[in-house]
Amino acid sequence: MRTLDELDVEGKRVLVRVDFNVPLDDGGRITDDSRIRAALPTLRELRERGARLLLAAHLGRPKGRDEKLSLRPAAERLSELLGADVALAPSLDDVPDGDVVMLENVRYEEGETKNDPELARRYAALADAYVNDAFGAAHRAHASTEAVAHLLPSAAGRLLEREVKTLKSILEDPQRPLVAVVGGAKVTDKIGVLETFLQRADRVLVGGAMCFPFFKAQGHEVGDSLCEEEGLEPARRVLDGGGEKLRLPNDLVAGREFAADTETRTLDGPDVPDGWMGLDIGRRSASGYAEVIRDAGTVFWNGPMGAFELEPFAAGTRTVAEAVAESDAVSVVGGGDSAAALAQFGLADRVTHLSTGGGASLELIEGKALPGVEALER
Ligand code: ADP
Ligand code: MG
Repeated sequence: MRTLDELDVEGKRVLVRVDFNVPLDDGGRITDDSRIRAALPTLRELRERGARLLLAAHLGRPKGRDEKLSLRPAAERLSELLGADVALAPSLDDVPDGDVVMLENVRYEEGETKNDPELARRYAALADAYVNDAFGAAHRAHASTEAVAHLLPSAAGRLLEREVKTLKSILEDPQRPLVAVVGGAKVTDKIGVLETFLQRADRVLVGGAMCFPFFKAQGHEVGDSLCEEEGLEPARRVLDGGGEKLRLPNDLVAGREFAADTETRTLDGPDVPDGWMGLDIGRRSASGYAEVIRDAGTVFWNGPMGAFELEPFAAGTRTVAEAVAESDAVSVVGGGDSAAALAQFGLADRVTHLSTGGGASLELIEGKALPGVEALER
């Protein structure tokens, strides 16, 4: 992959694709600006090296122009963080001059998600070079992430570079033991990741609602737990191939319903009675997982151990998050909700690498080629 080290930017206008797909509240205010902060090293370096910046990003999934998904709040936030004016270009035909200019939401353009070569040519006509720093969008072949990279001298930004190197290194050359902690809602979202780690990791610890297809496949009762039907077959496959490496929880915390004020009980095994749903891994399982994490050389964590948004069911995720933060291992965390959990526990800066890309990090781990990355390869 070409990096910023190989790109001549002095005196040039550089089109930089960033991932500013940030969460907004009802008033259109940014509730978490970490993706904007994550782009700063690349933006600062380019400016120090004498480049003018033309930023491109998407926000949400607009169908055509939609003021609610304007990048104005992101431009304003960036302006504060960068200490420089950031002008917002109303359209591709009306791009102001300036040291830092930002295009409106690229998904206002119909051709963006179709990787339209004509749209890519219009982007390219606005700049002398192209840098992609949007790791969170690198698994999509879109006009601003893929097609345009072929039309200008192009390279990866520092964030994209670090994301790809870190994630690849835990697959190719990890400090052992390599421990994967995989949780979250659906086993079908994570099946590729589970299969990769069953081959490469020393231990695979499973939590979250995605346990229930495994338990059901083993003949346990799952009660009213979230149990994805399409997950049964993949879970069976993983159970057959998993052997000693694979660990499932052996105690649970259950609730009557998905709510913080619901009645709760602990279950001393994987069976969930009717009228109850398993909403967290139990204390014994969590401390067992924490022990394995403490002895790891590398730990990859994706997916919460339970419904951590609800305090009565947050303990399992908290115990795992603390173990990941405290361990001397190289620790890599991927996934939007896992990142939110780390932030909720105040541990976000205690891991080696917190990936900004949910889908992209999973696809990279699964061994899939990312179109946005391939386009920057020599
Ligand atoms: P990530 O975004 O980190 O990849 P996922 O999106 O796969 O994680 O899963 C996160 C969601 O899974 C959270 O909203 C959490 O509430 C939910 N979840 C985890 N465990 C359970 C459970 N036992 N029952 C219901 N929901 C759960
Ligand atoms: Mg999620």
